[in-house]
Amino acid sequence: MRTFETIASVNLLEQLLDSRCVGCTAWGDIVCSTCLARCGGSPVHGTSSRGIPTTALGEYRGVLRSLVLAAKHRGARAVVRRLGGELRHIGLRFAPAAAIPVPSSAPGFRARGYGLGAIVANMCDLPVVDCLRLVDEGTQRGRRRDERHVRRMTISPQRPPVGTRVVIVDDVVTTGASIDAATDACHAAGLRVVGAIAIADATRSVRRDQSA
Ligand SMILES: [Zn+2]
Repeated sequence: MRTFETIASVNLLEQLLDSRCVGCTAWGDIVCSTCLARCGGSPVHGTSSRGIPTTALGEYRGVLRSLVLAAKHRGARAVVRRLGGELRHIGLRFAPAAAIPVPSSAPGFRARGYGLGAIVANMCDLPVVDCLRLVDEGTQRGRRRDERHVRRMTISPQRPPVGTRVVIVDDVVTTGASIDAATDACHAAGLRVVGAIAIADATRSVRRDQSA
């Protein structure tokens, strides 16, 4: 089993080997200041089908999309940390609340032992309680893209007390199904879901795919 130190050194190695900006490929930082500036300032606000206000840093395209993909496949912590300022700003809107990450279903994250949702939650400056668990771990192969995120969730015994204000945190909102599943699990455990936070909102591009 990999220790935290091993994971950290793998991330460091990834950063040393590839020091191009994920947005414009300029040599230097993993994301340059110009591209980083393009990631903030235009948050996407919405309401989930359960009536939960959702906020994403921006739409899932351009530099933000490159950042999310880099976070998924390369040094997740290093990339998400660059978005810390923006995420803290959004997190404060819901404070006081506990941040509950949507559990990752990606095999890569399961292998590494941590998910992007948990890393994003850590950047929101809210206490993080990693208590959501996926119920259905069946194969995703053969399922439509918009169905892949439909996973039933449950809450572990290490949950916040009944009545606690909580914010659900995910990496990308595609159909909103993950946030709905997380909301249902939190409600069943007596938690008050006051909002949802994501790095990027892909609901518009999902709708474009479906109408094409
Ligand atoms: Zn750049």
